[in-house]
Amino acid sequence: MRAILMGPPGAGKGTQAEMLIEHFKIPHISTGDMFRAAIKERTPLGLKAKEYMDSGALVPDEVTIGIVADRLAQADCSNGFLLDGFPRTAAQADALAKILSDLNMCLDGVINIEVDDSILLERLTGRRVCKQCAATFHTVFNPPKIEGVCDKCGGELYQRSDDTLETAQNRLKVYNDQTEPLIAYYTEQGLLKRIQGEQEIGQVFRDVLDVLE
Ligand code: ADP
Ligand code: AMP
Repeated sequence: MRAILMGPPGAGKGTQAEMLIEHFKIPHISTGDMFRAAIKERTPLGLKAKEYMDSGALVPDEVTIGIVADRLAQADCSNGFLLDGFPRTAAQADALAKILSDLNMCLDGVINIEVDDSILLERLTGRRVCKQCAATFHTVFNPPKIEGVCDKCGGELYQRSDDTLETAQNRLKVYNDQTEPLIAYYTEQGLLKRIQGEQEIGQVFRDVLDVLE
């Protein structure tokens, strides 16, 4: 399975990715997770990415495309992968087409998880993420069994610094300006599969499996 998970911030991409990679046994390639790992390790990539992420802006294309190209060339991606949060601009989509063609690969589908803006802000500001394994929870919609503790690995949950109301609002604007046009791009290629993302997490997952299998 070679697929992309698209949708606005807070649509549920990471939540669905956790289940899909388990089901298909493929690597999860989340550019956001890669940047956050780099920030934690204080690498030059992390320092650069942080400048942009703190305000909700996109990390520049040349930086982002490079890390995805390197990742897709690794051996564990040869049998499939799930891209989450990439591509986010027209330039990234064009670069991805070139990377995949150089690797002799093509996409099976692009899943677009649709959720209304009015719901997204509540999802983003209530999101909690595990410091250790990056599993995602929500204080109201998907609470962990013990408050502040990851169900999966026992790690400590934290709130992402870009999940404040102000930064989340900015990220939604950036999505509408720069990423939403990719819906038309992948529709034209016959790859787009629309999923109603306002249903409960398990139903969204079943709908995604239906369109992928
Ligand atoms: P994305 O990766 O698209 O930004 P996440 O998967 O991190 O989104 O989900 C954003 C927040 O919404 C998280 O707190 C998550 O627990 C919650 N969430 C995800 N899917 C649903 C859903 N179908 N219904 C309610 N809440 C959800
Ligand atoms: P996410 O974890 O997908 O919500 O992404 C968090 C932040 O990481 C975004 O607001 C961007 O600043 C940055 N980011 C993640 N993926 C990309 C991308 N494909 N292009 C540019 N910036 C990205």
